[in-house]
Parts: sequence; structure tokens; C-alpha cells
Amino acid sequence: MHIELLDVLRCPFCGGRLELVTSSFHRSLSDHIHDGILACHCCTFPVVDGIPVLHLQPAAVKALEHLGVGRPELALRSMVNLETDAEAARFEAAIASRDATYREIVEALGPGFEGGYFLYRFSDPTFLVANAVVRAVAATALQGKRRAVDICGGSGHLTRSLLDLSSPPPVLADLYFPKVWLARRFTAPGCQPVCCDGNSPMPFARGAFGYAMCSDAFQYIWTKRLFVGEMSRLVDGGEPGAVVINHTHNQLTWSPSHGQPLSPAGYRDLFETLPVRLYGEAGLLDDVVGGQAIDLSRHDSEEALNADPALTLVASRNPEVYKAHAAIPPAPLEGEYRINPLYRVDASGDALTLTLRFPDADYEDEYNACKRYLPASATVSTSTLAALNRGEAAPGLADLVARKVVVHLPRRYY
Ligand SMILES: [Zn+2]
Repeated sequence: MHIELLDVLRCPFCGGRLELVTSSFHRSLSDHIHDGILACHCCTFPVVDGIPVLHLQPAAVKALEHLGVGRPELALRSMVNLETDAEAARFEAAIASRDATYREIVEALGPGFEGGYFLYRFSDPTFLVANAVVRAVAATALQGKRRAVDICGGSGHLTRSLLDLSSPPPVLADLYFPKVWLARRFTAPGCQPVCCDGNSPMPFARGAFGYAMCSDAFQYIWTKRLFVGEMSRLVDGGEPGAVVINHTHNQLTWSPSHGQPLSPAGYRDLFETLPVRLYGEAGLLDDVVGGQAIDLSRHDSEEALNADPALTLVASRNPEVYKAHAAIPPAPLEGEYRINPLYRVDASGDALTLTLRFPDADYEDEYNACKRYLPASATVSTSTLAALNRGEAAPGLADLVARKVVVHLPRRYY
């Protein structure tokens, strides 16, 4: 972690500043802390492999003990939570390889780590809507001169959408250490990862950010009132900031992975200090699929909100947020154009024939709306794809990029 991050970090319990305990074991290089112990007025927290761990769950306490006796490698093992020596050895071998892919490290973390469909994340309908809203609101609130935080951001797929909008670089906060570790290495290189608990007060100073978000996780937070109060506190200072909650489930509808959602009226009641507007995800997806501006000036009816399985919440005192926003083209990011892994590829010479194939019936059911933009089949030439990756004109690919048949992915993603 960069020592400048200490300016925005605060103890989640006493609110005090954190400082490196220089009398204990630590490894730091110029302005970065690699391993060590941070102390506030009330307790101590570990920094493991450059990531501050600002909670007191058993793995963190164990990591602290290991650091106390100068064993950073065991502290890392504790945070990654691998139970046997064989599992730990497999993970350590995977991360030591410079060529390891995101997928290989996820596999080394074992089947219990990340179920689901991370491989297809960048083209699923939930991501497309969240990405459009995040870029529109973050660009408006940050104006290129403030910082963003992605809370419960997992392995950083949407933190990546903030990299060219947040200055200084965005903070990614999540309870699961391996996820923020993966984000820093692959998905959102340059982000500042922080490990913390979304059910506790957030370990950041008031007004440290211009934009705070939480995507596809809020329904799993039990302390929702505290969480929204904390998000509002984080953007409280200077120019009006913005709070965004993407894809939170609706208590009034059925969902395959429900969590503890609220109704639209329940979500509205959480916001005491900021005006909030709710959107049904269906209307926002229509904007994205239609290639139109994402229209945050809309007022969805109570019936439409009550019937939509997923909701987006946008809270801000900045009226510019509640407008129609044309898509903001991303600045060139580290990455590469690849064929969407949802397609089976049959190669014949230079020509690739692509056929849409879902990993299983559950995926097809949950993300059915992707059929609105992913065609059943397509053809691509390897030479055109290579030209696109060299930054040259690639006739015919613009439409396939727009429809997510060809996706821009982090390097060494799969
Ligand atoms: Zn404290």
C-alpha cells in the first residue's frame, strides 16, 4: 500500500488515524508498505502483501500474530484461508508464476472460492447496466479530480470501470482478501485494495471520496442502514458527491440468489441525508441494448419499480447526475480484445466461426437478457482481431465489440 492511503484510512471502531508500528516487524520500500502492523487509538491491524486488513475476524487476528513474529508468508496464507499445506503450496506456486492467468489462480484457490460465472462477467447484462451507470455518475461526481471507492467490489470488475475516472486511483474494499488481491494483479491494476467488513463502520475518513458505490452485494449486507449512512459520510465534503447502489434485489419479486433484500419503499427509507432516486434495471438495460444514452432523468413508476427484480439506487445533491448521459469511451486500459468465452470457436484458416453456448441452464436462465445483444452465431477473422489489438482499424469488428461478441478483457484473464 502507498503511504498516502493512510490519509484516508481510519479505524472502523475508534475512527482514529492509523500509523505503521515501526518497532514491530515490517517491510517497506520508499513510499510503500509491503507488510507490517498498523495501530490506532484502540487496536492493531495487519498489512499483508501490501493490503491493509481493517477488520478483526479470525484470519486477520492470526495474520497479526504471524507478522508479530516476522512470518509474512504465513500471514498471507492465513488471509487466503487455505486449509492444508498442499492447497497453500498450489496457490503459492500459481502466484509465483508471472504467466499465471486470473482463471488459473481462481482454480488454485479451490472450488469453494469463487463459484459462479466470473469468466463471463464482462458481458453479462447486470455488468453492462452497472458499467453504464457507474461511468455516467462517477464521471459527473469526480470531474477527474476526486477519488472513487468501490465497496464490496469483489475482484474489481467494476473498479476497472473507475480506473480512468478516479484521481487518485480508486479504492477497492471487500471482506475477501483473495478477491482484492486478484483485482490488484489482474482486473483493476493500479487500484488501492483494502480488506474490510461491509457490516461494520467503514474504515475511511469523512469526505475522503467524491463517489461511493456498491454493486450486486447490497442485498447480502445485514446492517443496511449503517452501510448507507457510511457511504453518505464518505462522500460528505466539498463538492456534492454521489452514492450508487447497483443491482440490488427486490423483496417483492423472486430471485435465484436473494440475500435479504428490501422493497423499493424500504430502500428509499435508508437515505436520511441524501436525496435518492430508484430505477428498475429493465429500463436501464433497454437504454444500453438500444445503444442510447443512459437516461437517469427518468422517473420509473412505483408499479415498474415494484415489479423489477433488480434495482439501481442513485443518491446525490448534484443535479447533473439526474440527466441522460452519453456513453463515455474508456481511456486505453491495459488489456486485450478476446472472443467472448461464451462462444465456441471453430477455426478454418483465418476465419473463426463462433457459436453461442451457455455454460449451463442456470446461466442461460439467470442471464437470458444477454440474448438481446449476443447473436447466436458470428464470424471473425484472426487477422482482424490481431489488428484491433495492435490499435489498427478493424473493419467489421466495431459492431461485434458493441454487441460483446468480442470483449476487452484484462491481460491474462483466461
Ligand atoms: Zn481504533
